[in-house]
This record gives sequence, structure tokens and C-alpha cells, in this order.
Amino acid sequence: MSKNLGNTHKKLQGLRGMPDLLPNEINLWQKIENTARLHFKRTSILEIRTPILEVTELFARGIGEATDVVGKEMYSFLDKGERNCTLRPEGTASVVRASIQHGLINQGPQKLWYSGPMFRYERPQNGRQRQFHQIGVEYLGFNDPRSDIEAISLAWDLLIDLGLSEIIKLEINSLGDLKDRSIYRQELVEWLNKRKESLDEDSKIRLSTNPLRILDSKNPQTRQLLKEAPSLINSLSDESLERYCEVKSGLTSLGIPFTENVNLVRGLDYYSHTAFEITTKKLGSQATICGGGRYDGLVEQLGGISTPSIGWAMGMERLVLLISQGKSVNNDHIPNFYVVNRGKMAETFAQIVTRSLRLKDQTVEIDFTRANFSKQLKRADKSGARWAIMIGENEAKGGKIILKDLRLDPKKVSKEELIDLETLLIRFD
Ligand code: ATP
Ligand code: MG
Repeated sequence: MSKNLGNTHKKLQGLRGMPDLLPNEINLWQKIENTARLHFKRTSILEIRTPILEVTELFARGIGEATDVVGKEMYSFLDKGERNCTLRPEGTASVVRASIQHGLINQGPQKLWYSGPMFRYERPQNGRQRQFHQIGVEYLGFNDPRSDIEAISLAWDLLIDLGLSEIIKLEINSLGDLKDRSIYRQELVEWLNKRKESLDEDSKIRLSTNPLRILDSKNPQTRQLLKEAPSLINSLSDESLERYCEVKSGLTSLGIPFTENVNLVRGLDYYSHTAFEITTKKLGSQATICGGGRYDGLVEQLGGISTPSIGWAMGMERLVLLISQGKSVNNDHIPNFYVVNRGKMAETFAQIVTRSLRLKDQTVEIDFTRANFSKQLKRADKSGARWAIMIGENEAKGGKIILKDLRLDPKKVSKEELIDLETLLIRFD
């Protein structure tokens, strides 16, 4: 082939905002995916895979015409059969569609997870792309506030497991039910009408199409104005408020820290009651890593039977950015057990216990300092281990160990159990 001919072919480039994932960056992706799979398995959540292309009406109806996603960001086109199709901008609508279509909804409550590429026509920047990836969870047919708590704690624990504990924050709010929101809508519209001239153009339009969306505006001037606006929380019925309190106290009993944000409405129309976001300060304005909430009306809206539901989605790119910034802690070495031991027989027995647990695939740290018990226990706490195993001469003589749960609130009665090695190994098999 002549040299010239080779040069006449222009190099093709990928589309803007649709990056390639190269082998040298795939490790982190796989680590996140594997960790997520593990958490889903532990929570008995099954995977579902839906197509990337759907009829446009699904998102228009599901997400809401007046949202940014449907109004501005969708990749829609007519296919060869003149059907109006859209590359999915999110996963929930598709999962609900599939669950209705195949009758999953009629078989009782479903806990489902998905992961894969999503498409939104946005201005590409760090943590914001046109093809991006989400991992998400949907609990279909769950009404109890405890399902909200489980779904949120699942997202939280997954992020903690990925080493992000120091840099993430959970924000929650309640959007009440349809009736609460319609009362509030009136109040908000009245308030905003009086200040219409200060609103941005988008928000002016939304004042008549979908006023609640204005609360989600990214316009700085509008955001400033909204700080003074009436708050949805004051329009909640006693029942909705009680539900919200149950979710909050459930999170508190699980030791999951959160802040309440009365302006949190989320970008999609289908949310009701619980709404939440997990955010970070480390990614500039791409602050939200995980967003979710309850969507009690969506299944009906898409043609199914009434099915109260809750779900969330995490942005993979933002997670990868956060972890690769090195602001996260590598958790791989954090032991599950820390073995505290003192005394001649105890030392030998402690090493037997440590090795037996390691052979069962447990991560175990053993203390070699011979310091007193309380010093060793302090180190156990610091190591991040879930369990302390304590062995003194008395325990060693009887072939026993003391197992202590280090994650229990120290002010509460701390539970210690005296058990033999076999029982321990069976328990953690
Ligand atoms: P934002 O306010 O940042 O635009 P959103 O409210 O549009 O987020 P959701 O629709 O709730 O986002 O999607 C859940 C998660 O998916 C987000 O929290 C984010 O981590 C991720 N995500 C959303 N859009 C993009 C995008 N264009 N590029 C990369 N990640 C995204
Ligand atoms: Mg968005």
C-alpha cells in the first residue's frame, strides 16, 4: 500500500462525552462491581437486565415531560419502522416496565438490581458524560418504612465498603404523598408568583408546567431565592410525617449519620415520601454519587397494579473518580477480627485461632505486643475490625475465646461471648 493512501484516511474519534474504558482503568470498575454484587447477594437482591433502547413514551410518561432529563437530555430518534425510540437515560422506568410486562409484580415483592450504560445529552465534564454507567436497586412492592431503611443502608454500606466513609454525606427529605404535594404546590406557586421577575427562564416556564421542579433548579439566583420559600415538610400530613420519622429513627438505630435537606426533591417526577442523596464535596458540582427515593405511583403510571416501591442509582464514573483520587481508604487490609492475647498459653492458642480463621478466608490481625488487655483492645478498635477475639490464660486452658462485637455502641451493654474455637469457626464459615 502506498504511504500517501494511508495518510488520506482521517483518524476517527469516539463521540464527545462517550469515553472508552481502557484495560489500565478497568480494575477499579471491576472492584466496584464485585463489591456491589456481594452486597446485593447478602441482601437477596436479584439481577435484571433490560435493553438499552426503549420506546420514548416510557421515559416521557415515567420520568415526566417537564424534567431536565426528558425535556432536554434524551437521545431519541425514529427507527426504520418509524417508532420513536430513546437510549435509556436511567434504569428505573425500564425495570418497572419489564416487571409489569413479565408479570413479576404479580408474583409478590421483588428486589432487583441492574447495572449498565445510560445516555443523557449533557455538557461533558468531570463526572458528567453523555454515556455513563449506573448501578441501581429497585424494591418493588415494598411499603414498610423498614424497606426504605434497608435500601438506604445498603447504598451507604456499599460506599463505606469502598472506603469512602470520610468523604460522603447522606441527605434525606420527605416529599409526602400526592395530596401533601398538591397542597404544597398551591402554596409554592402563590409564593413564587409574587417573585416571578427574579426567576430564571426555565423556572418561569415550570411555574405553570411543574412548579415543584423549580426546587431542583441549578440556577444560583433561583437557588438563593428558594432559601426563603415555604417548605414542603410543613405541608406533610401527620401520617406522612410519622412515616418520615420512622425512617429517620431507623437510620439512627443503624448508626447511619444523615442530615435533613428540605430542598431535596430529586430530578425525576416519580418520587414520593422518602428522597435521599449521597453526596461528596470532592467532585465539585458533580456532587451526587447516589440518588434515590420512594416512587409509590410509578408502577400504576406505567400501566401496572398499585405497587409501592423504593430504589436508588449510583453513578459509576463518579465513584471511580472518587476512589482514584486517592481520597478513599483502601479497605482491603482492614481485618474482620483482631486477636487480643496475653500469657504463654494464650499466645500459642491465639496463633492457632488466627490461622484457623485465615484458612476460612477471614482477614485477621493478631496483636504481638504483649501489652495489657485494655491497650490491645484500643488497638483492636483502631484497626477497624468488626470483632475482637480475646484470649487470656484461663480461656486458653479451656480452649475457649471471648468474642466481642466492636461495632456495637460502647455506651450500650457491650456483648461478649465465651465460646470454643469450633463454635467460632462454624459461626464464621
Ligand atoms: P445531577 O444532579 O448530578 O445531574 P441527577 O439528579 O441527574 O444528577 P440521577 O438521575 O439521580 O442524577 O442519577 C443517579 C446518579 O447517576 C447521579 O447521582 C450521578 O452519580 C449519576 N449521573 C447522572 N447523570 C450523569 C452523567 N451525565 N454522567 C455521569 N454520571 C451521571
Ligand atoms: Mg442530571
